[in-house]
Amino acid sequence: IAIAVTRERREGETRCAATPETVKKLLALGASVTVESGTGAGSSISDADYEAAGAKVTSDLAAVLAGADVLLKVRGPTASETSALKSGTVVVGMLDAYRDKATVDALKGQGASAFAMEFVPRITRAQVMDVLSSQANLAGYRAVIEAAHTYGRGFPMMMTAAGTVAAAKVFVMGAGVAGLQAIATARRLGAVVTATDVRPAAKEQVESLGAKFVAVEDEEFKAAETAGGYAKQMSAEYQAKQAELTASHIVKQDVVITTALIPGRAAPVLVTAAHVASMKAGSVIVDLAVEAGGNVEGSKPDQIATTANGVKIVGWNNMAGRIAADASALYARNLVAFVGLMVKDGVLAIDLEDEILKAAMVTHQGQVVHEGLGG
Ligand code: NAD
Repeated sequence: IAIAVTRERREGETRCAATPETVKKLLALGASVTVESGTGAGSSISDADYEAAGAKVTSDLAAVLAGADVLLKVRGPTASETSALKSGTVVVGMLDAYRDKATVDALKGQGASAFAMEFVPRITRAQVMDVLSSQANLAGYRAVIEAAHTYGRGFPMMMTAAGTVAAAKVFVMGAGVAGLQAIATARRLGAVVTATDVRPAAKEQVESLGAKFVAVEDEEFKAAETAGGYAKQMSAEYQAKQAELTASHIVKQDVVITTALIPGRAAPVLVTAAHVASMKAGSVIVDLAVEAGGNVEGSKPDQIATTANGVKIVGWNNMAGRIAADASALYARNLVAFVGLMVKDGVLAIDLEDEILKAAMVTHQGQVVHEGLGG
């Protein structure tokens, strides 16, 4: 099996789909690995590092793509990459398939068997391939680092001869994978942390990290969690009650980090312009959902927006890409586990009945096959 890894070409993408460690693991599956020159640059991995691990490194992109049986990517391949693939090539990456129809169509047209890693089901067997978790965890950590960097005050309480510095009050909205890591990171820095979520199960997790849980805990809240463990769309009535509670809480916060996503839908607005206007000058909000439309009114993709009352809203896209070396390392391991599902005795053998492969497959033999995409 010829496995190819090419440089990421999407704007702002710093991560890569293979590391020297995973090259060795792919070779051990019986594959050969070709890496495009410069692939690891954003993660401090040199061409020589890949070569030392046993990969062939070349800058001849057309040859890499034309010879590939499997193409590994972080984000979807660009149209020109896709058009250089032979029909039937397996393409694996975070394709953003719900939003990026053009890429899905191109892969379909080229006859690729494309797999979207964001569709890997959250079942126990697939935990090792769960890119949403591996990347969200790092994004949650990095969101706190960005907040601390942007905030003009300290996070921990410090008692000095010149007086006491107060601990920062940090409020984390959405206590999934990213939010829980944000809570843990803010606590390590010494902040006083509160958090909210619409899933009742989150309460215990928040409290086990030493943070206080803040939410309207009515009957709807107690019933709100889908079978997959994801958040449900809440009623307008619940959202109004929650907004009221949020309003009275947010006004006292120094830092707010929002992480709320609902799969396949635009992110819910949790922090309104009025909430932002109620905060003190110098407060910082980090909107981790900015790429999905944003949880914060006034957040702008890839900018720090400063409001009239002096609140800074951090809207970095691709927060995991700001901790690229670790994000690449974890992502690449997720991919090895996934590719391992389709290799038997050194040859490609895609079992279309495999629950994980089936859930992640987006295009196959010239068709869109994913249910969520009308396949
Ligand atoms: P996510 O990225 O989809 O959303 C982040 C968080 O925002 C979630 O906790 C969600 O409940 C919350 N949220 C959504 N709307 C909200 C609102 N209006 N107000 C406040 N919070 C809101 O979530 P995730 O991090 O991917 O995790 C989702 C669930 O999946 C969690 O229960 C997690 O533990 C579970 N999970 C399971 C596995 C597994 O393999 N079994 C792996 C990873 C995650």
